[in-house]
Amino acid sequence: MNKLYVGIDDTDSPEGMCTTYITFVIINKLKDCGFEIEGHPRLIRLNPFARFKTRGNGSVSFKLIIKSSDDVEKAKKIILNKVKQLSKMENENTNPGVVFFETGKIRLTNPDGGKIYSDKEINSLLEKFALRAIMEILTIDEAKKLANDLNLEIHQFKKGRGIIGAMAAIGCYLEDKTFELLAYRLPENYCTSRKINPESVLEMNKKTYPRTFDNLDEGYMAIVPHTPCPILYGIRGESPQDVLNAHKLVESLESLEGYLIFETNQHTDMHLKRIDKINKMEKYGCYILRGTVKDKPNVIEGGHVFFKLEDSSGEIECAAYEPTKGFRNLIKLLLPGDNVEIYGGIGSMGTLNIEKIRIYELKSLFIEENPLCECGKRMKSAGHDKGFKCPKCGNKIRNGQKIRTKIPRDIKKGFYEVPTSARRHLSKQLVRMDF
Ligand code: ATP
Repeated sequence: MNKLYVGIDDTDSPEGMCTTYITFVIINKLKDCGFEIEGHPRLIRLNPFARFKTRGNGSVSFKLIIKSSDDVEKAKKIILNKVKQLSKMENENTNPGVVFFETGKIRLTNPDGGKIYSDKEINSLLEKFALRAIMEILTIDEAKKLANDLNLEIHQFKKGRGIIGAMAAIGCYLEDKTFELLAYRLPENYCTSRKINPESVLEMNKKTYPRTFDNLDEGYMAIVPHTPCPILYGIRGESPQDVLNAHKLVESLESLEGYLIFETNQHTDMHLKRIDKINKMEKYGCYILRGTVKDKPNVIEGGHVFFKLEDSSGEIECAAYEPTKGFRNLIKLLLPGDNVEIYGGIGSMGTLNIEKIRIYELKSLFIEENPLCECGKRMKSAGHDKGFKCPKCGNKIRNGQKIRTKIPRDIKKGFYEVPTSARRHLSKQLVRMDF
């Protein structure tokens, strides 16, 4: 059976809308028209440092089962009309892109003598493109050239930057994956405060964590967004059944338009590249890197905490910004010589933003003191190379040495992460990690 892969991105703006919601509307319409969707639609998060992202740099794709060529044209028309109708076109930075890739199609010999790619080759090239969109910064021209080479059908609205995300959402290979159930509000409730019984979220978390995660953060409901988008809440978890069970436990005090479960690369650490040298890191890249703390962390105005990490190839400034809240207290306890592994990405200022830290070695700290006299008083130096003298009873020690005492560190070796509210969508929680 032929399949039509559909990728969509860049439809929303800070004023509203959401590409996942447009996908929800499209899928409902397609189903009403008798179309069948294979599996779950996918929500693929791309490079967190992409310049034109609205919020979390998410892109969406889904797979449609095609029974006849008429079907293809009808489905494409529905999809393109909805994207045109619902996207926030009035915003300068909304530049939607839609990409179609039909499998099982007989591709005619290229008259220019170019290569004809098989479906498998197309999938594999799109997979590489997706990995680059997660780890690097790409251009619209690069996406266009690949789409042209592979004979993919692209639709660009305005600048059409969305084709980058749309192609990546189709191509992304998910070795590890999680699921997110997104519940949508009725349009008449947009821009009003979201009405959910917080007790039911506490209960849901109690019953479903850690099969679902990031439900709460220090008592507030982390499942609820704070933007004017159509989402009432999102529940993240390990499987479609886990998020569905949790959704049934949430008491919504406003009616829902509906919900949709997405398969996603959220919380997989897919954006991180393990690297062995600081001087191999690049701006807008995300890495796992081991090194040694070079200086004592310092706090600047606004509460951001910085320290330098070094290895034999160089050094880089690491940051725990104010939104990482209590995590900063841990970072402040690091000392020069501590050996750590940082999980994080390099932002526009060239600093490595910490998502997680693994402390391997803590430098031993000592204090040196003069010895105690038999009378219990701390002795004083009797002069250079002359030992110590008690200021109380006059007792002397000629060949005495200072006493070295190890001071316990207020920090332990181990793995630490930023709180839910500061977590990147792609960051894997410690609770998901296989130690
Ligand atoms: P939301 O999360 O609310 O859906 P968003 O944060 O995903 O919004 P978009 O509106 O989708 O933001 O805009 C992101 C834009 O950046 C899209 O046009 C997408 O194609 C493009 N983009 C994504 N990743 C990259 C990348 N690695 N390099 C260059 N452009 C990218």
